Amino acid sequence: MSASTQPQLESTFESTFDSQPERPPFRFELHKSSGAARLATFHTPHGPIPLPVFAPVGTQANVKTLEPRDLHELDAKLILANTYHLYMRPGHELIQRMGGLHQFMAWDGPILTDSGGYQVFSLAHQRKLDDDGVTFRSHIDGSLHRFTPERVMEIEQALGPDIAMVLDECPDPLSFEYNQAALVRTHHWAERCKIAHTRPDQALFGIVQGGIFPELRQASAAFLTGLDFPGYAIGGLAVGETKEEMYATLDATCPALPTDKPRYLMGVGTPEDIIEAVYRGVDMFDCVLPTRIARNGALLTPDGRMNMRNAQYAEDPRPVQEDCACYTCRTFSRAYLRHLYKAGEVTALRLGTIHNIHYLLDLMRKIRQAIADDRLDDLRAEFYSRYRIPDQAVRHDQRARRKAAVLNQFAGSKTTNS
Ligand SMILES: [Zn+2]
Repeated sequence: MSASTQPQLESTFESTFDSQPERPPFRFELHKSSGAARLATFHTPHGPIPLPVFAPVGTQANVKTLEPRDLHELDAKLILANTYHLYMRPGHELIQRMGGLHQFMAWDGPILTDSGGYQVFSLAHQRKLDDDGVTFRSHIDGSLHRFTPERVMEIEQALGPDIAMVLDECPDPLSFEYNQAALVRTHHWAERCKIAHTRPDQALFGIVQGGIFPELRQASAAFLTGLDFPGYAIGGLAVGETKEEMYATLDATCPALPTDKPRYLMGVGTPEDIIEAVYRGVDMFDCVLPTRIARNGALLTPDGRMNMRNAQYAEDPRPVQEDCACYTCRTFSRAYLRHLYKAGEVTALRLGTIHNIHYLLDLMRKIRQAIADDRLDDLRAEFYSRYRIPDQAVRHDQRARRKAAVLNQFAGSKTTNS
C-alpha cells in the first residue's frame, strides 16, 4: 500500500470508531413491520442503507455506462461489485494498493461484494470441487486458480466493501440429493469464512442454500443463525425454478431467519419478484436485469417492458414513461431514443440504463412508503393491474435451458469429486 493512500483509509476508520465509540459500525434498525414486510435501516461505515433496497450491479467496479455522479443523482443506496471479476482483473491486491474499492471506483456510498462462488460455478472452466475449496481456470485466459473460504475472505477484505459474502456452493435448485450434499460443504465453508474474517469495518453475511426444499432451507437457516452473522442472504434462487417455487421457498425460509438482521435475496430483481419477496420479508436485492435489458433496448415501465427498437415509437414525441422523473424521460422523446438504439449510439445504452435504474429505485421508494403507510397490499394490487409480466412460456423455455446447463455442470463436478 502506498504512503499516500494509507493515511486516508486510516482516518476513515478512526472517524467511524472514535466519534461513535458506543455504536458498532453495523446496526440493523427496524422501524416498522407490515405483515411480513419490513421498513428498516442497515447502518454501514459508508452510510445508512434504507431497507428494502435494490443494489445496481457494477460487475467490474462500474455500473455499466454510469458514473458515480449518475448513481448519486439516481439516489442509489448500495452498489454490488463482483469478487470473481475483480480478482481476475485488475486483481484484489492492486485495488487494495489503490486504496480499496470505494476509492478505486470513486463511490463513497455502501458497497457489497459477492463471494465469487456463483461465477466460479457458472463461468469458470474445468472446475474441480473438493471439501476444502474449488480449483478452476479463468474464463479470461485459462490460468489456474483456487478459491477456499480463507482465500475468498482474504480477497474480499482486500477489496474492502462494507458487506462481504461467504463462499458457498451454488447447486441446481431442483435436485434434492445435490442440495443435501452441497449444504454440508456450504455450512462448513461458512464456519471457516467466519473464522477467517477479521475486518471490523466490514459485515460478513451468511448464505442460506437448500434449493427449493423447505426442510433443507430451514436447516440451513438454523445452522447459519447459530453462527450469528450480521446479515443473511438467500442464495441459489432465480436460477432455474419457477416463480411459484421461488415464492414458496421464500415462504419457508424467511420465518426461519432472525428478525433483527437484514435478509438479502441474491440475484433477484424483476419488479414482480421484488414485490413478492418484500411481501414475504426480504430486505435487499441485486440484479443485472435493469442494466442488461437496457442495453438491449428493453425499458421498464409501470405497464411492463417496452422495446425501444419497435417501429411504433419512430415518431412518438412522448417520453418513455409520462410520469417518470429520470433525466432520460425529462429530456428525450421515444422517437429520439429509438433512433439512438437503431443507430447503435452508445448514448442509447446510457439513457436506457438511467431510466431502468430509476424505475427500480423509484419502485423501492414506493415500497418503503407503502410499508410505512401499511398499504403494501394496495401497491401490489396496483402493480398487477397494469404490469404485463413477460410470457411464462418463454420463461419456462429459459428455465429448461438453464436447468440443462446446471445439470451438465453438476455432472462435471460429480465426476471430478469422485
Ligand atoms: Zn425515466
